[in-house]
Amino acid sequence: MFKNGFLSHADAAQYNRNLVLNYIKDYGPISRTQIWEEINLSRASVTMIVRQLLEQDLVHEVGVGESSGGRKPLFLQLNPNARYTYIVDYWEPRKVFLTNLTGEIKCESSPLVFKKYCSPEDFREIVMQGIREIETKVEVDYSNLLGLGFCMPGTIDFRDGVVIHSVELGWRNVNMKELFSNHFPNRVYLERTGNLMALGLCAKREDVSLCTHFMLILFATSGIGASLIIRGNCQHGSNYMVGEIGHSKFDDSTLCSCGQKGCLEAIIKENMANNRGRVSEEALIYLARAISSAINLMDTSMVILAGDLLPTMDQAKQTFLIDAIKEQVYSSKNRNLTILTDGDGENSIVLGMSAHIFKENFGLQISS
Ligand SMILES: [Zn+2]
Repeated sequence: MFKNGFLSHADAAQYNRNLVLNYIKDYGPISRTQIWEEINLSRASVTMIVRQLLEQDLVHEVGVGESSGGRKPLFLQLNPNARYTYIVDYWEPRKVFLTNLTGEIKCESSPLVFKKYCSPEDFREIVMQGIREIETKVEVDYSNLLGLGFCMPGTIDFRDGVVIHSVELGWRNVNMKELFSNHFPNRVYLERTGNLMALGLCAKREDVSLCTHFMLILFATSGIGASLIIRGNCQHGSNYMVGEIGHSKFDDSTLCSCGQKGCLEAIIKENMANNRGRVSEEALIYLARAISSAINLMDTSMVILAGDLLPTMDQAKQTFLIDAIKEQVYSSKNRNLTILTDGDGENSIVLGMSAHIFKENFGLQISS
């Protein structure tokens, strides 16, 4: 993208267009004057970009604003139905969804039924059946379709679109972009569950979207993990293994699914099996230890606990866990740290994938 250290003219134009589009998305309805006053672009550039966005149907003019004399300005806002996305959630509810630009579900398939350890080819056929079912209900214009997004289990290379390893599916190095290349060339996206849930919470909760340094802790039957968001961007690490706190080792006792012994996940699973499906306070201390270490490492200002194991804990136990984290974290009194629970986290996945695909198409990332 950079030539001799500079953005090409086309890339700069695209960056400026996305800058205006994101501003309208986040702050609309908004006038053209408000945009050029807030964004470091000339009035002429903003006028030209807005004209393009109107032509592309990505924004709409709505209502009439206050005027200090002269023609009354029209407000601009994102047209959420300008583009669509197919989203496949491998977790519950296991369906294909057709969503608009803000993640609103326009149509959904019946539940998808995959055989245990199904082959990638069988997986593709079942997903395509779900897509065909949606297309019998609504007309889908592929020129307005941003792509097909997958919420997948396992270690995910989101850049190349590869499921590196999934114990759940029994897959290693399955390239999803290639698998669906005949149907959705260059338009396949995937991300792991926790990251999508975290992005969904950012899109859904005002207190999180304003937060620049946020961590989601997923406490779920499928595993325990942390997802880290810095200034609206998911962190992935060198090997796409950021946040694997479920495999923090505490001792050499219980065998874990990863092959090691004494991982947090294995300790919690064993504890629940011994307590008729409930996690004991003793096991929560281990969980608090792993989470407080993650906070010490990343110094996040907000932590949200979510996942299907959270509702199995009553309010007193949830408070016990939060207090245990605060007790163990370094210098708790001097930190700007909020710890919350969100039992609705699962519903954030579709919203999160929609936000991820929007960002991939209209985001402000610059790759060198
Ligand atoms: Zn493990």
